[in-house]
Amino acid sequence: MTDSATMSVTGRLVPEPVLAPTPILELRDLHASYGAIEVLHGMDMIVPAGGIFAVLGPNGAGKSTMLRVVAGLHAPSGGSVLLGGRDVVRARPDELARRGVCLIPEGRGVFPNLTVEENLRLIGHLGASMSEIEQRTYEQFPRLAERRKQLAGTMSGGEQQMLALARAVATKPGLLLIDELSMGLAPKIVETLYELVAQIAQDGVTVVAVEQFARTILGIASSAVVVTTGRIVMAGGPHEVESELSGLYLGDTGA
Ligand code: ATP
Repeated sequence: MTDSATMSVTGRLVPEPVLAPTPILELRDLHASYGAIEVLHGMDMIVPAGGIFAVLGPNGAGKSTMLRVVAGLHAPSGGSVLLGGRDVVRARPDELARRGVCLIPEGRGVFPNLTVEENLRLIGHLGASMSEIEQRTYEQFPRLAERRKQLAGTMSGGEQQMLALARAVATKPGLLLIDELSMGLAPKIVETLYELVAQIAQDGVTVVAVEQFARTILGIASSAVVVTTGRIVMAGGPHEVESELSGLYLGDTGA
């Protein structure tokens, strides 16, 4: 008898159900509205632990709203959000942050009037000393070490996004939600940033990355979904989704 089967009372070998690992994040029939206008119309999504999960789709599809709901910043009007199998739909953003959920919002998630160093100092320390945080950050993001005394708002858009990534990583997230890292940036810079994201995922952080432009993110994603008008309309491996997309909507930075 193998480990994966047991003997039934009739003496027949009955295969034991193979238990799939609990997803790090699961959305079940998620609805969200702004006032009377519903923008998520029953979203179901399963994010396995580990790797990069790409969320693609056109403007206004509801991708940012979904991330804001997961981070506890927007209360859904129905459905569930499960984090590691536990319903967290009513959890506050700070509770979710303590459980390892970190959101890099659309735009530049940094304080422009503070230096790189000061931006790092504003992070909750989670037991680590500031010098440890700075040392780790500057090893991983050497460009930021060169800029440590510079005001974040005077850095290039790519460097500001790098700082947003660095701040997120310093909180030691389990689930990193990234909203359109590529916003307003040249394709080459976007590639560099996503190389950093791939490294972050390799270090064990599960990444959910919303991107309007598909090619770069699909190159590093382990799975992907496409959202249009508040619903998931496609889900699968990156190659599968890319070939389907090429006939449907052109999510391409030209990178
Ligand atoms: P984008 O890439 O443009 O951000 P998205 O897929 O992230 O698109 P959302 O930002 O989630 O989409 O927006 C979904 C819908 O909700 C859109 O129709 C948008 O106009 C609307 N919406 C977003 N934020 C608000 C808000 N604060 N108040 C009212 N409507 C909003």
